[in-house]
Amino acid sequence: MDIRKKMATLAVHGSGHQSVMGAVGFPIFQSANFLYAGETNYHELRYIRLNNTPNHEMLHETLKELEKGDAALVTGSGMAAITTALLTALRAGDHLLAQPVLYGGTHTFIAHDLERHGVRHGFIDPDDPDKWEAALTPATRAVYVESVANPLLDVLDLDRVVAFAKHHGIMTIIDNTLPYPVNYNPLSHGFDVVVHSCTKYLNGHSDIVAGAIVGARAFVDKCKETLDHLGGSLDPHACFLLARGIKTLPLRMEAHNRNAQQVAELLATHPAVRMVRYPGLPTDPAHDRAKRWFRGFGGIVTFELRGGAEEADRFTKSLTIPLFAPSLGGVESLVTLPALTCHAGMPSEERRRIGISDFLIRMSVGIEDPEDLVSDLSRALDGFVCVK
Ligand code: PLP
Repeated sequence: MDIRKKMATLAVHGSGHQSVMGAVGFPIFQSANFLYAGETNYHELRYIRLNNTPNHEMLHETLKELEKGDAALVTGSGMAAITTALLTALRAGDHLLAQPVLYGGTHTFIAHDLERHGVRHGFIDPDDPDKWEAALTPATRAVYVESVANPLLDVLDLDRVVAFAKHHGIMTIIDNTLPYPVNYNPLSHGFDVVVHSCTKYLNGHSDIVAGAIVGARAFVDKCKETLDHLGGSLDPHACFLLARGIKTLPLRMEAHNRNAQQVAELLATHPAVRMVRYPGLPTDPAHDRAKRWFRGFGGIVTFELRGGAEEADRFTKSLTIPLFAPSLGGVESLVTLPALTCHAGMPSEERRRIGISDFLIRMSVGIEDPEDLVSDLSRALDGFVCVK
């Protein structure tokens, strides 16, 4: 079966077209509360904060189908999904193992906020699974990874993570934001829980923040109870925008995958570039793993120019198509320096230690015409070489 086609149908129709009063488009239920209908459980009362308006429920069906889980929960942001999943899985006294390079907000939440609540953590060596056992403690309850780590695009031995966790009876939680469900479905590979920043590719239009948790029904139900109390629910209008964005996800992903490959190939051969990371390059350290598990290599390319921060600044300012802005996964190309944006919350020594220099550039390659993108980048890079 052509998985992409199946995904395209799921993205448009979810588990089946749901019509309200014959409408082809699913309406926005912009109502905070609903008439009491005899509910006996607090969490079943119909109220936006309780994540159960028709707009939430319709998204839960679609996200569950796309990520091949039993149940899904949409949240007010990617961080709301991550913090809710971790706070549901862990309690004071527990220990969490994590990958050292993670989205900056997640890293800081694990290293600082969870610690304040009595949850200790340790990091696994991404290059040496034989050392993971030594990082375990009797209190280790879960291991947290990203399928493609932001921003260095490392891909861990994901099968080994699952085997390791199963062997030790601990839960696996994976942030699948960068490959998105079109390129990879972690639950089908044995992971227990998937979290997403739907702000990125799932929505795809840089106009909302949203997140999702997908996994087994019992765990997702527990997450809903946590989220109902934390209050990080998604507004129905944002639910509507997310549901609309998802419909074109597989189409957009084809363009992101293709364009990023072309950008990475240009960067890999240009003399102004010191290093480039993209899992689709055969020379990339993540290539073999990405090829084994992913259906596409994604839309993010990370690189360093020869020189330093001044050169990176001059280069980003000379681009005419990509916008200089944080975030990723929208239809428009974006460039950013993670040290100034997504990883600015990390202490600089820690950031440098894990390989995020002050002049590392991350490009979220959009769906513009690839020739236009490549010629804009070539012009900026050539100018850079001339100035030097
Ligand atoms: N996970 C990853 C991989 C991200 O890149 C981000 C944000 O950039 C997040 C999670 C957090 O998502 P949000 O900004 O929707 O809270």
